[in-house]
Amino acid sequence: MIKLVLTIASLLFLFMGCTSEYYTESDYKSIKKIDTHMHLHSKNTVLSELAKEDNFSLLDVMVDVPDYPPIEDQEQFALDQVQAFPDRVKYLTAFTLTHWDSASWVNETIAHLKSSFAKGALGIKIWKNIGMVYKDSSDRFIMIDNPRFDPIIQYIIQQNKTVMGHLGEPKNCWLPIEQMTVNNDKNYFKNNPEYHMFLHPEYPSYEEQINARDNFLARHPDLRFVGAHLGSLEYNVDSLAKRLDKFPNMAADMAARISHLQYQSKKDREKVRNFMIKYYDRLIYGSDTGIETDSNSSEIKKQLHDRWINDWKYFATDEIMMAEEVDGEFQGLKLPKRVIEHIYHNNAVKWFRFEE
Ligand SMILES: [Zn+2]
Repeated sequence: MIKLVLTIASLLFLFMGCTSEYYTESDYKSIKKIDTHMHLHSKNTVLSELAKEDNFSLLDVMVDVPDYPPIEDQEQFALDQVQAFPDRVKYLTAFTLTHWDSASWVNETIAHLKSSFAKGALGIKIWKNIGMVYKDSSDRFIMIDNPRFDPIIQYIIQQNKTVMGHLGEPKNCWLPIEQMTVNNDKNYFKNNPEYHMFLHPEYPSYEEQINARDNFLARHPDLRFVGAHLGSLEYNVDSLAKRLDKFPNMAADMAARISHLQYQSKKDREKVRNFMIKYYDRLIYGSDTGIETDSNSSEIKKQLHDRWINDWKYFATDEIMMAEEVDGEFQGLKLPKRVIEHIYHNNAVKWFRFEE
């Protein structure tokens, strides 16, 4: 009799284990995950190897950033990484606006994209230099809703590719350092005053950046668009929810803005949690980490592994946590399995056509 009760108890336990609604910290390695926001500027495959150990695939994102290697070099690094890990690493290409005023800029750009797509790029990344850096011949900032982009975007739609857009900046960028909410923004804008818009009131405002992006999405409803960094609406989940309702072809990556979710969790964890559950099929995991040719392999590997583990804890468990980006404690969201599987995997597959 005792044996029978024990058998039933252990069967029940097994059954509950299989159907539990939540993952735990120890499920981290067994779940297939995709980090959709990596910058791999090196032949060094230490991060791709770590990805294999930790059950991640990687989307390497090329960007037109002045202190990154030139676009051609970034693409060669991307192709080297893809060649070393063909099932695990994919990439997004990028273009520059350096020849914006030349009559052939549109055709040159489309030719460049055509060549990248032929090499396997899943789409493109556009960056905040559109709106904050590039100006046209009459000294006006080139915003993303400029009709000159239309043929390029139409080509991307035709080719069934995705646009990842980092447009604008966190709202903190328009505030003095001491009024910013999270420490990663404080550090970034302290170190990059050229992008700290509080110091440049003559540049387009936060609202102008967001409006240009919204106009752009309204112009191209068929475009698959991933708003990088919570679509620059990181400060309040309601603002992002509003855009996700308005633009059904828009998703958002959480890269380098998870701290903003944690910051909001401190005040109202249920609100952030309900937001993530409601928009479970529109939010995409990304870490915004990378490697340079002179990076220290073991340091960079540890950094990324720690980041991945801490983010997993925040989304999957209800642990009380701390993070260097956020002052004070906050609690993990303990999101249901279905939400975890979407933010870590299914949404990347859908939005980027990421096939493993
Ligand atoms: Zn990035």
